[in-house]
Amino acid sequence: MSVTAANLGFPRIGPRRELKTAVEAYWAGKADEAQLLDTARRLRAATWDRQKAAGIAVIPSNDFSLYDQVLDTSVMVGAIPDIYRGLGAPDSLAVYFAMARGTRTADDDAGCAHGHGKGGDVPAQEMTKWFDTNYHYMVPEVSPDQGFALATAKPVDHFREARALGHHTRPVILGPVTWLLLAKSKAEGFDPLSLLPRLLPVYADLLGRLRDAGADWVQIDEPALVLDLSDAARAAYVSAYGELAKVDGIKLMLATYFGALGDNLKTALSLPVAGLHVDLVRAPEQLDAVLAGARKDLLLSLGLIDGRNIWKADLTALLDRYEPIMKSRSAFQIAPSCSLLHTPIDLALETKLDPQVKDWLAFAAQKLEELSLLGLGLSNGRYVISDELLANADSIQGRRNSPLTNDRKVRDRAARITGDWARRKAPFADRIKAQQARLNLPLLPTTTIGSFPQTAEVRKARSAHDKGELDTAGYERFLREETARAIAWQEEIGIDVLVHGEFERNDMVQYFGEQLAGFAFSRAGWVQSYGSRCVRPPIIYGDVSRPKPMTVAWWHYAQSVTARPMKGMLTGPVTILNWSFVRDDQSREETCRQIALAIRDEVLDLEAAGARIIQIDEAALREGLPLRRADWQHYLDWAVESFRISAAGVADETQIHTHMCYSEFNEIIDSIGAMDADVISIETSRSKMELLDAFVDYAYPNEIGPGVYDIHSPRIPTTREMEALLIKAGERLSARQLWVNPDCGLKTRKWEDVKPALVAMVDAAKAARAAL
Ligand code: GLN
Ligand code: ZN
Repeated sequence: MSVTAANLGFPRIGPRRELKTAVEAYWAGKADEAQLLDTARRLRAATWDRQKAAGIAVIPSNDFSLYDQVLDTSVMVGAIPDIYRGLGAPDSLAVYFAMARGTRTADDDAGCAHGHGKGGDVPAQEMTKWFDTNYHYMVPEVSPDQGFALATAKPVDHFREARALGHHTRPVILGPVTWLLLAKSKAEGFDPLSLLPRLLPVYADLLGRLRDAGADWVQIDEPALVLDLSDAARAAYVSAYGELAKVDGIKLMLATYFGALGDNLKTALSLPVAGLHVDLVRAPEQLDAVLAGARKDLLLSLGLIDGRNIWKADLTALLDRYEPIMKSRSAFQIAPSCSLLHTPIDLALETKLDPQVKDWLAFAAQKLEELSLLGLGLSNGRYVISDELLANADSIQGRRNSPLTNDRKVRDRAARITGDWARRKAPFADRIKAQQARLNLPLLPTTTIGSFPQTAEVRKARSAHDKGELDTAGYERFLREETARAIAWQEEIGIDVLVHGEFERNDMVQYFGEQLAGFAFSRAGWVQSYGSRCVRPPIIYGDVSRPKPMTVAWWHYAQSVTARPMKGMLTGPVTILNWSFVRDDQSREETCRQIALAIRDEVLDLEAAGARIIQIDEAALREGLPLRRADWQHYLDWAVESFRISAAGVADETQIHTHMCYSEFNEIIDSIGAMDADVISIETSRSKMELLDAFVDYAYPNEIGPGVYDIHSPRIPTTREMEALLIKAGERLSARQLWVNPDCGLKTRKWEDVKPALVAMVDAAKAARAAL
């Protein structure tokens, strides 16, 4: 029996975000191509060395990317849409980065508040979330007459590069079926999957070249195998891998991750591949079925270490569970559940974390060590790692018994929640009357989503304050001036419901996490979100509570300088949860409920301070949807319940708003209705209000602000086009229900864009009031 430790992929940004620095310098024209490629090469070499030093036997190559592995694949197979072809050779950086970000100047890098970039003259390819992660990939675009040819041989180049450095690697490629399932076509009714027969020769060509370069195994990623698949998609797997099996002399490790194979297990096990990787962190229950159904000569790779989270693995528990099965086959590989792309790189860089919390964590580098220890323990007996096991057991115990993870008060309170905590006192129809009587707003009231431009000065002041160069009094004076100016300007142009501008906030989740108990923040725990954009998600390690008010003082100041209603502005529990690393020792649902109680406390304090309107943003509610349809309702039920717990404590006349950064509500409209926010603002301008139909069909009774100003676009919208959008919305819904606002927060925009756009928006509201 042999057990081998294998890795599926390592973060590519570099421990100090070296890749971000290098890529952005290249974009800005401050570094040339050779410098960029040199940095990339050094990062790859260091990553390979690190994995070898950690005792990993199977080390991946081609997991590196300058921007995105899906984009790499699109370019590699020659799926380069015509608009990019004139920009350079198919394998040039000019074409590659144009597909990634459009052609634009370096400082024109604004996106929306949640970070989506925008294109310039030539638009970027569409970008979307990679399965249920916070990584975003570039959506492949294909046409019915799409041809394919190997346009780059990056996997071969990187394999050779590693070998020259003394590493015999296992190249990683994205599988053809998943790539096609992620692809889109502008041609209506065209199914990209029908291109499979044309695509396969390119993959066969690539595999042959990898073999000729000396590779013996290739990891071929097919995460789509954990999704709900059509029969056609399942059949595509059979034909694709039947075809690829004809390439002699190379073995495929088919990698599945992010969940259970479920009803695709039979298909996966029937494929003529040499190895199969399964995710046993997300789906430990599939082990028995996999063992029972796998051919004797199929090499199983068991995903045992969580590639999606930052917790130390319980090595003893893993040994207890997996030791007994090791004898059932001649060989196993053990691996992280998925690529480590989704974890920060190195815990050793964290010098400021509470040592107790730090002791509970493992980042990518530490996960490799766990994996190699586990490999030793499983193949040679656990006594060979007894010291490490003891230390590991100590931290696992310490975490389990710590008062930080067991706050009695929080737990008792959460256990006492009853149904009416999640129910407003009166139904909407009555509430809205009380609210209108108090607010006295015009038809089509105008407002904004919350943030105003985070200018260079704002960021400079924050960083000076963080570094201790600007004292707190000076920083707060600066913020008060910014806030007062933004408020005066909103009054001047005639906005009805004001915001304070969120200048004091670094980020809509971090700002709250830093003030809540149970959260920790890393210094270097960056994770790639897309391209050069990295995020540092908060770590929820303990029971969550709110020691003291978080936003009341700022709200109070803002309301004190105006008579118009000032919105209290909060991030909702589901969004805080979905944008954090969440503890794995209790359900997400439980953690979310604790956050909901903390936000509820804040809502009630804002109300007590006099806030008439409180907005609770749930930008990430939709993106938390599970991968499998069958799991949706359960998630939606507890997510909506959490939102309601946070909101429902207020009096009838206090108006609750929520905001969501998307427009696809068709499939979840019942749950959106169930949130029972008095007002919801959403993104619709790009869909020309057509996506409002979900609300129309549902006969959505509450108020709604369909964004009329597309803040993702560099264009400044005109009064006339926004008026037209409002008229369109007014035809679909009742004018009484409608609010007038942009699509999203304005923090990534510049004042010079925001000002004319909002003036035009107010004019559009006036014109529409007269017309409707
Ligand atoms: N209130 C937040 C802002 O305006 C909402 C951001 C978001 O939805 N992503 O920045
Ligand atoms: Zn938004």
